[in-house]
Amino acid sequence: MLKIGCHLSVSKGFYEMGKDALKINANTIQFFTRNPRGGKAKEIDEEDVKKFKELAKENNIEVLLAHAPYTLNLCAIDESLREFAKNTMKDDLKRMEYFPGNYYNFHPGSHVKQGVDVGIKYIIEALNEIITPEQKTKVLLETMAGKGSEVGRNFEEIKRIMDGVKLKDHIGVCLDTCHIFDGGYDIVNKLDDVINEFDSIIGLDNLYAIHLNDSMNVLGSHKDRHSKIGEGNIGLDAITRIINHPKLRDLPFFLETPNDLDGYGKEIKILRSLYK
Ligand code: FE
Ligand code: FE
Ligand code: ZN
Repeated sequence: MLKIGCHLSVSKGFYEMGKDALKINANTIQFFTRNPRGGKAKEIDEEDVKKFKELAKENNIEVLLAHAPYTLNLCAIDESLREFAKNTMKDDLKRMEYFPGNYYNFHPGSHVKQGVDVGIKYIIEALNEIITPEQKTKVLLETMAGKGSEVGRNFEEIKRIMDGVKLKDHIGVCLDTCHIFDGGYDIVNKLDDVINEFDSIIGLDNLYAIHLNDSMNVLGSHKDRHSKIGEGNIGLDAITRIINHPKLRDLPFFLETPNDLDGYGKEIKILRSLYK
């Protein structure tokens, strides 16, 4: 069965989020650990977590992907901003221990004017401080579109970060289809080549999740504007090949398309019907 879900709100608690997933026939869920622009996370309500876990088990909701606020920057110029990012990630990971065996995704960062080498160095230092041997959550680096000074704009940069992380069992990759397309990887005409390139540089065994998005912009635009499935420049045919590809088809997919709950439900229905 296709593992597919979307970005859902946890503002009414985990149990309500789980019920939203069921309404749209999703069996994976992504959520922001706190307001996407940062801020304080809600206290964990253990009763709510327990109810959510029962609901998830009964209905085969399999994968939870927590997404860090996208304003966090582990390689900011300002040391206090880097500290803030580290502390937020540590707190997020502590909370994720309520959901052992799941994933935490983050944008590697923006090096601003420091250059990519300095950026990667800061990100590695931060991850080595944040990741603990005991943690039960895998931390995923998201592939980026290369907008501005984003780090992680190609597979090589992701690999360089991974190489610097000491606790390798706790790190992996989340591939965003809109981002890599905007980053210049032609998943429309050369999907096999892109997958082989990922495998030879990063290794497919390090790929744990896919953000499934169409793109408003063209190949190599470095823009990062998601569009609804089938309405962008990636298109439904290419997306159908992605979800059915033998090397990707068993991974969990997460929609981050511009939709309300109903819109996500429609996309999930279409994608399930196209999964062979
Ligand atoms: Fe993201
Ligand atoms: Fe994404
Ligand atoms: Zn994006």
